[in-house]
Amino acid sequence: MNEYQARQIREYRMKGVGYRSIASVTGLSRDIVRNYCKTHSLDGFGVELTANMKEQMQRGTVCVNCGKPVKQPVTGRKRKFCSDKCRRQWWGAHPGALQKKESAIYQLTCAYCGKVYESYGNKTRKYCSHDCYVHDRFWREEEGREPYVSAAQKLEAAHE
Ligand SMILES: [Zn+2]
Ligand SMILES: [Zn+2]
Repeated sequence: MNEYQARQIREYRMKGVGYRSIASVTGLSRDIVRNYCKTHSLDGFGVELTANMKEQMQRGTVCVNCGKPVKQPVTGRKRKFCSDKCRRQWWGAHPGALQKKESAIYQLTCAYCGKVYESYGNKTRKYCSHDCYVHDRFWREEEGREPYVSAAQKLEAAHE
């Protein structure tokens, strides 16, 4: 069995296609298809299989894009995809997910006027408006104010 056939089996099984049909499409024997499915957690039927696959994707044991097993690193961030190719393919097919990620809303406090404002997709913004930025940046000395230090910066300084 080659890599292409293995991928076909996974894709068809995720759609709930039976062993016999997959065998005729891939040109493999039904036994080979069934054995492959048994050893790769691709057995079961229809809805049950899809649910099983989804659960595995959430747990990070299989690629969210192709269903192929994913090797998780011992440390660091959990991987969702088996390869960069799958990551690109998946994001290409789910542009909405990317948009949602980028337009996350952060509630921030303006470093100049102290007003709480909402920032879209940028949590490191310091000012609610350009006016506040200009005031803080250029008029600080004239207004005799202490430099602004955010709560996060204070915390960081305490740890240094
Ligand atoms: Zn993949
Ligand atoms: Zn402001």
